[in-house]
Amino acid sequence: MTKPAKPESEKRSAVQSEGRCACGVVRFEIDVPATWAWHDHSSATRRANTAAYMTWVGTWKRRFRLLDGEAAIVRWEDPEAKATRSFCGRCGTPLFLERHRSPKFINLPRALFATRTGREPRYHMYLDQQADWTWTGGPLSPLKGYPGVMQERPRKKRATPPSKDSLFEPED
Ligand SMILES: [Zn+2]
Repeated sequence: MTKPAKPESEKRSAVQSEGRCACGVVRFEIDVPATWAWHDHSSATRRANTAAYMTWVGTWKRRFRLLDGEAAIVRWEDPEAKATRSFCGRCGTPLFLERHRSPKFINLPRALFATRTGREPRYHMYLDQQADWTWTGGPLSPLKGYPGVMQERPRKKRATPPSKDSLFEPED
């Protein structure tokens, strides 16, 4: 109550979360909490990051700081995503997604943070582009003879139920 208000320039949250690429050359931090966190199911991101989908933590650039590795960062303009993607030029880890329509905002892979970012990834975008081989949390069972390997049940071929007749007569 008696503490004087901090000047605007010193405004910085008390908690930071640090992230780094696989080889550790690139390190960065954000102020906690991040603004939001979301799952990106777009085909452009799937290809660029070679994963079924990517979970991003989004924050204002003024709450983000690159701590090390500027020289190692490789940038690529992705015309499909209308965004700049960054990667570590040494180990290849995807780093940042900066969408052109949000120039003051930066998205960072949730997987690169070892500590909490203050936001649960509860939002899904571009679900219409989701790969049909993405595991969506359905039940798994052990694969007989292969300890540690779990398998999914076969997927239903179609979302629409078969017509009544097809239960008794094979369709062409
Ligand atoms: Zn690296």
